[in-house]
Amino acid sequence: MERTFVMVKPDGVQRGLVGEIIARFERRGYKLVGLKMFTMPREVAETHYAEHRGKPFFEGLVRYITSGPVVAMVWEGKNVIAAAREMMGATDPQKALPGTIRGTYGIDVGRNVVHGSDSPASAAREIDIFFKADELL
Ligand code: ATP
Ligand code: MG
Repeated sequence: MERTFVMVKPDGVQRGLVGEIIARFERRGYKLVGLKMFTMPREVAETHYAEHRGKPFFEGLVRYITSGPVVAMVWEGKNVIAAAREMMGATDPQKALPGTIRGTYGIDVGRNVVHGSDSPASAAREIDIFFKADELL
């Protein structure tokens, strides 16, 4: 069954949106197979966002994602990778459709509440960065 990596970013944790985000995935019928909370070390953030290295927003992105605790999750279910992206909405909350997570709670592209893997390859890579095999159901 397909799995994806979803993370409540520091602004989402600070604003008390963890339960709401988990509830949306549960209600949709997806299965939570991994969950942990931690503050991301800089080197992990640079690895996770390696595709954005060299872009003008990279340094700010790393500073933001390491600025406080995140809640990292692995969700399982049919088509969950694409479904999670759809549920999150566009990267820029100003462009995210109403009803999506970012469209409901997002403020700014640099503080957009949640992360979700954008492809099967990214999902496999990101799950491997954040979870050991024995931490997943
Ligand atoms: P994420 O990877 O966090 O789920 P995403 O896949 O929708 O988001 P990416 O293109 O992977 O978007 O960008 C990663 C993150 O970098 C975004 O979530 C956003 O916080 C930040 N970011 C992307 N583009 C910009 C930008 N133009 N200005 C500032 N921050 C940006
Ligand atoms: Mg991305």
